[in-house]
Amino acid sequence: MGTTATGETTKNRRRTNGAPEVDAVVVGAGVAGLYMLHRLRGLGLSVQVFERGDGVGGTWYWNRYPGARCDTDSVEYSYEFSDELQQEWRWSERFATQPEILRYLEHVADRFDLRRDIQFGTTVTEAAFDEAAGRWRIATDDGARISATYFIMATGCLSAVNRPAFDGLDRFEGEWYHTGAWPHDKVSFAGKRVGIIGTGSSAIQSIPVIAAEAEHLTVFQRQPNYTIPARNAPLDPAEYAAIREQYDELRSRAKENPAACWWELNPATAEELSEDERRQELESRWELGGLAMYGVFNDVLANPAANDVATEFVRSKIRALVDDPHVAELLSPHSFIGCKRICLDTDYYATFNRPNVTLVDISDAPIEEITRTGLRTGGKEYEFDTIVFAIGFDAMTGPLLRVDIRGRDGQTLKAKWADGPRTYLGIAIEGFPNLFTISGPSSPSVLTNMIPSIEQHVEWIADCIAHARASGRPCIEATRQAEDEWIAHHDEVAAGTVFPGCNSWYVGANIPGKPRRVMPYTGGFPEYVKKCDAVAANGYEGFTLSVARA
Ligand code: NAP
Repeated sequence: MGTTATGETTKNRRRTNGAPEVDAVVVGAGVAGLYMLHRLRGLGLSVQVFERGDGVGGTWYWNRYPGARCDTDSVEYSYEFSDELQQEWRWSERFATQPEILRYLEHVADRFDLRRDIQFGTTVTEAAFDEAAGRWRIATDDGARISATYFIMATGCLSAVNRPAFDGLDRFEGEWYHTGAWPHDKVSFAGKRVGIIGTGSSAIQSIPVIAAEAEHLTVFQRQPNYTIPARNAPLDPAEYAAIREQYDELRSRAKENPAACWWELNPATAEELSEDERRQELESRWELGGLAMYGVFNDVLANPAANDVATEFVRSKIRALVDDPHVAELLSPHSFIGCKRICLDTDYYATFNRPNVTLVDISDAPIEEITRTGLRTGGKEYEFDTIVFAIGFDAMTGPLLRVDIRGRDGQTLKAKWADGPRTYLGIAIEGFPNLFTISGPSSPSVLTNMIPSIEQHVEWIADCIAHARASGRPCIEATRQAEDEWIAHHDEVAAGTVFPGCNSWYVGANIPGKPRRVMPYTGGFPEYVKKCDAVAANGYEGFTLSVARA
């Protein structure tokens, strides 16, 4: 670990709490971990947070690649738990850059005095539930041990990078980078021949920026993605002031949206609209930019025919934006729109009109190997000074399974999830008492605005812990029946959507050997919250409470 942009170094790797026993251990100091710490402190618990990075920020700490910015409007991609915080912070652009979001999270850490309970530069490696004591025994990579009643994984959904597993990478004599673990110092592409592998959100944001600097950029595309113009711009001061005055109203309205976002969901299905009305709706969302395309028709994610209307519209835009018809066709997806995360871009398609950019289709010819001077695919060699791997993440389950977590009877989480993840509400796991996952598999998480989703989880978990402690039976565990019923419901809802029909990271298709199943909950944020609230109101239905079940 080197020096970070914030000047923190591995000297921070010290036990901030110093205690061998605490009430709660939280893993991760990103959006989720910071708020969880704040909330648990509010309950009077002693808390130790461990963070792998040398600073706060989680995803916004690691993803420093060129062009990195959020795809949710900054005014809604922010905490709402503190009105003072949301009133005092000033976003500068419609879609905040990575450095601006990181500054925001650093401000939150300072404002709520959170750093004193966070040990940076430390990876939690093992956690085992001691049934006799009713405590989690947790080990970190500095050899330390700590025990806690509650163990909370705030490790995010996209924090385990999909490591490049290409033959020959160790022989490559140039520089290579992964978008999800970008260096803190500026990487220069000036005068360089650059190859980028991948065309997901990270690549789509970085390609125009790298192309503007590099001598030549070659893009290796396995499957094209749908991307919509972001229409980023500085925030208008008058509009921003009006938003700050109506924060409460706007945020509560967003809770009625399936993605917990401020964009409007069209109440009409595609079929209920005339051809002209459909076109107008599509055009206006394309012009508006952002992720509003998700709400273009009420049934766009459920009905393949409605989805086709939207996909043909985007393909027509690609044909209009890309000069070379062959390149336009290669860039045109034919999958369902939305079953892979829709991307947002600034000048992505126009970048392929530049003379210094080449698109290479590798859909039928995987990368054979990385060579000393570049890479080989389709029997052809390409020479590069720099290779960028924009190949994504082992999403949702990766961050949880890379910690050796053992529950009752020594059962590992890995074994329990051998056929795919099973949780109750994406928050709790049968056989793993007092373990909570924030944005775990089977929660809406990645299909929603992450910050309100995280706040909902954190508050629900804090209330649940308060309830268990107040009951005098602090050990709380999901029952097998509750988990089975939640997973059955989760699968049934997913089967009625377009999500199973795409090779996306939502279904684990990007990681060889990963069990294929839709991981996020597709029933929408409002339905999900209703269910969570009902579980709590019914005395944490589906959970058992005990003193410690030895
Ligand atoms: P990604 O969406 O998983 O894209 C990875 C890309 O790498 C895909 O094009 C994939 O091709 C390709 N790839 C993977 N393995 C490959 C291999 N062995 N050979 C060739 N190509 C390979 O990852 P990402 O772009 O990092 O984005 C992940 C998620 O992070 C996004 O969906 C989004 O939720 C989030 N994100 C958000 C923002 C934002 O807020 N603006 C920005 C970046 C990321 P296939 O499609 O064929 O698998």
